[in-house]
Amino acid sequence: MFRFWYVLPPKIKKRFLLVLGAGLSSCPIFLKPAFRRTAPWFIGSSLLALDTFVPQVNILSKSFWRAKNVIQEIAITFDDGPDAEITPKLLDLLAQEKAKATFFVLAKRAKRLPELIQRIEKEGHELAFHGLDHQKIWKLSLKKFSRQIEQGLAILESISSKPIIWYRPPHGFIRFDQYLWLRKKGLRLAGWTIGVWDTDENVTAQEISERILASLRPGDILLLHDGVADRLRPQTAMLKAFKKTLPVIKKQGLKPLTLSSLWRISQGGISAF
Ligand SMILES: [Zn+2]
Repeated sequence: MFRFWYVLPPKIKKRFLLVLGAGLSSCPIFLKPAFRRTAPWFIGSSLLALDTFVPQVNILSKSFWRAKNVIQEIAITFDDGPDAEITPKLLDLLAQEKAKATFFVLAKRAKRLPELIQRIEKEGHELAFHGLDHQKIWKLSLKKFSRQIEQGLAILESISSKPIIWYRPPHGFIRFDQYLWLRKKGLRLAGWTIGVWDTDENVTAQEISERILASLRPGDILLLHDGVADRLRPQTAMLKAFKKTLPVIKKQGLKPLTLSSLWRISQGGISAF
């Protein structure tokens, strides 16, 4: 909880406290008999909403959002790319520090940059799927959702030489019926442990770096962005922060692996690092 609180930007903290205050001040309503009658419905819907909108809550949909039983390993993940300017520089940094990462790409962007996708794989990183584009998939019917996933996967599989294992929905939001369909398709759902709000418009490299270093622990899945969905603003603050922070992470003894390697170790496998 403390780690979650630390990385929140002040603006979000204020909003969070306001909602909490409103919730607490409406507590007396919950004691009324009328509420008690509707309580099962209310609690059920709240749990379903939490399951859909909070990737770290695994009531029905089980996502891999943190590894247990690991001593040094972590996974660094990049969403919303690839980006022609930022992603190659990230790959250079990762190679320099002998670190591995996972790229959750948008298929429509990947289609425009196939060489970059092939470079990601050639250099030992993992290619993962973030969607055809960045639509809010939880609003889509199951039919539309499955069509989009299949279209996106077909694009990635035509460029990539390896099967795609992980899917992370835009914003981490996914309904239970969509989750069940994904499992049937053989895809695994990926969440994250720490997000550092690196796509905020006015965030500085210093802030991103401080948030990462203050919260990262063994077993964590760090969420960063090499692109910004629906915008063409380059992630320069994130890149600057990553350049400064990756060597520190390595010096702390943390080992950045691909998501699949971290998952295997958490299941009792041996480190592939
Ligand atoms: Zn995204």
